[in-house]
Amino acid sequence: MSTQSPILIVGSMAFDDLELPSGHATNVVGGSATYSSFVASTFAPVRVVAVVGDDFPEGTLGSMRARGIDTVGIERATGKTFRWAGRYDADLVHRTTLDTQLNVFASFQPKIPAEYRDSPFLLLGNIHPALQLEVLEQVRAPKLVVADTMNFWIHGEPKTLAALLARVDTLVINDEEACELSGTRNVSRAAREILRRGPKRLVIKRGEHGALLFDEYGLFAAPGFPLEDVVDPTGAGDSFAGGFLGYLAGLPEVTPLALRRAMIHATAAASFCVEAVGTSRVATLEKSDIARRVSEIRALYDFGASTM
Ligand code: AMP
Repeated sequence: MSTQSPILIVGSMAFDDLELPSGHATNVVGGSATYSSFVASTFAPVRVVAVVGDDFPEGTLGSMRARGIDTVGIERATGKTFRWAGRYDADLVHRTTLDTQLNVFASFQPKIPAEYRDSPFLLLGNIHPALQLEVLEQVRAPKLVVADTMNFWIHGEPKTLAALLARVDTLVINDEEACELSGTRNVSRAAREILRRGPKRLVIKRGEHGALLFDEYGLFAAPGFPLEDVVDPTGAGDSFAGGFLGYLAGLPEVTPLALRRAMIHATAAASFCVEAVGTSRVATLEKSDIARRVSEIRALYDFGASTM
């Protein structure tokens, strides 16, 4: 019997202008909700709440629907779609935000359709923390709430972010953001400090170095999957979050072991994201792709039974 529970994802849908070592890519369809919903739909039914402008391609919404993603909650507003511009260093590890234009996001008030309000799994993708809180208010007793954020909000909206932290189960952020949020430079200390502020567990993404899960059972490390061709890291974090929650939504129960397995499935999903520009790879991701990569990740740790 299928145990897949629906996931409600709220986040940005965007046009991204990317300066990559391989060249510039402009007007690339991106956004936190776009990446994570494509990935999560590999595992479970997905509902999206977001806003796009009148310039956003209908074709992308069509590809989402073709994967069973419910787009009824995506509002098309008059004006321009949210736009983000970033430049990556030659190593594709560090990036600089060049521009953020909120556009239709500036006046967006998320309205959760009545049929979405009982969604058991909630992914509060990277958007203004006040909007994340508004969504949380409108959902009835979700089983698991995962939130993502970024430096833009850590610096710009510290109080609202603090209110959000007190109410989420799992926070997913990258190592730099964890240090900025906590005011410490050591990742483990940062984790301890952030957990003190509310979330039950914390996932710290470390790019090519993998990701760490801190919870009441201790620490779990997922490796970065070594890829030969990294093309565009944009959306890797959102893909990770979509894979993490997507995997959990396909299980009858969220156990400590399930959370650890979710970390590995999320790693696998994110590794596909970075192999192509924008959402082009995650838009066609299949469960079998993820299963194959999970086996490859498992092999990274396989050194036989201990004889020492
Ligand atoms: P990631 O690489 O996982 O951090 O995700 C990058 C995606 O997040 C891009 O597609 C951007 O459009 C989107 N993004 C960047 N900045 C923001 C922001 N301040 N609020 C919402 N979404 C953003």
